[in-house]
Amino acid sequence: MLLTITTIHSPATELGYLLHKHPDRCQSFALSFGQAHVFYPEANDERCTVALLLDVDPVKLVRGRSARLEQYVNDRPYVASSFMSVAIAQVFSTALGGRCKDRPELAQTPIPLLAKLSVLPCRGGEGFLRELFEPLGYTVKATGHLLDEQFPEWGESKYFTVELQNTLTVSDLLSHLYVLIPVLDDDKHYWVGDEEIAKLLRHGEGWLSQHPAKEQITRRYLKRQHRLTRQALAQLVEEDNPDPDSTEESHAEEEAAVEKPISLNQQRMNAVVTALKDSNARRVIDLGCGQGNLLKILLKDSFFEQVTGVDVSYRSLEIAQERLDRLRLPRNQWERLQLIQSALTYQDKRFSGYDAATVIEVIEHLDLPRLGSFERVLFEFAKPKIVIVTTPNIEYNVKFVNLPAGKLRHKDHRFEWTRSQFQTWANHITAKFGYTVEFQSIGEEDTAIGSPTQMALFSLNN
Ligand code: SAH
Repeated sequence: MLLTITTIHSPATELGYLLHKHPDRCQSFALSFGQAHVFYPEANDERCTVALLLDVDPVKLVRGRSARLEQYVNDRPYVASSFMSVAIAQVFSTALGGRCKDRPELAQTPIPLLAKLSVLPCRGGEGFLRELFEPLGYTVKATGHLLDEQFPEWGESKYFTVELQNTLTVSDLLSHLYVLIPVLDDDKHYWVGDEEIAKLLRHGEGWLSQHPAKEQITRRYLKRQHRLTRQALAQLVEEDNPDPDSTEESHAEEEAAVEKPISLNQQRMNAVVTALKDSNARRVIDLGCGQGNLLKILLKDSFFEQVTGVDVSYRSLEIAQERLDRLRLPRNQWERLQLIQSALTYQDKRFSGYDAATVIEVIEHLDLPRLGSFERVLFEFAKPKIVIVTTPNIEYNVKFVNLPAGKLRHKDHRFEWTRSQFQTWANHITAKFGYTVEFQSIGEEDTAIGSPTQMALFSLNN
């Protein structure tokens, strides 16, 4: 059974980095059901192809069981099935997880890829094959095979030679193959239990919940076990619903798209990191850390000794954790990081003991009547020496060509303030809680309407 993956991304041999397999070498891996071999039939700057050849040992498959003839004589050694998924997960585990030490940005970049499967059993025929891959953006080419060439009257078999072409990350391609090959085959070789739901949700993340055939995929992947299927579908529906977590996710993208032309986020992060360093703040708690934009920068910088992220959205924290995992820091560096799920409007002992708290693009997500509770939680109880708050300057919104007049930058923003509203609020904090404040503009400054982001740097009075 052979799977090949070809790219014409230039230079094409970077595929070797993405898969963590050197194009000049042939490598073999022992699996419980046989051998997997990885090699590159072609590898040059224009075109590079990796081959995963599976040599399934039919004798190994039945070892320890009382074998019957059909257990030796079957199609398993010759077709793509759940054995291929297991091989993908074991041989290309780093690539499947989207990690790549040498080319981290490339691992996140969609590149042109062509996957060929020499023999893929498709229960449900070519139609079903297309229903699975076309919604994911693939161009599908399928060549059917007769049951027996000597007896064409017996008709078509369920076996196809398949080519799948798409522009996507290697990790997405491998995840699609991992889940969909056994779905097409509809005959999983190993026991399907609760942990299979976790695998399905993990490898289906980001695409399965919106897939038009998600019910069939889930049912077949879980070998038609009703209880498991129901459970998995319930979790997928949750993922699909506009719950606070996923709404937060899509809104974050929406806001980034509005602000993108001036790459405001980067300028905001730079301003915050500079202010932290100028204040010699080495132990930092990022309140409303979201998907970890700031945490990532702080964690990579050894200046910062302790980095804690807090968010109410568990989903955002999970994404933050995954993104931070991809930094592949040495183990001892992880002790500097802590992620906490908590609401900022309730007193929490875990917020205390930091040099600085950062609150980046968060206050505008709080209901105005709850802002008072947040102020006390932060400035009265947690009481760090430094607090950095950033928020949009609503006066600047007229400059965003892609934002309709009168709209806020993000659906979940409860308010956006003018410079004078923000400064009035900040001055009331200094009077009430014993801090001083300085203001800074972030992003391109317009003499009349100011800059897109406003920042307040509070320092605790001695
Ligand atoms: N600071 C991050 C994320 C900003 S989006 C960045 O700059 O990228 C706002 C974040 O605040 C979201 O992740 C949201 O989940 C979080 N948030 C909103 N209300 C919250 C609350 N009451 N308690 C904790 N986090 C909250």
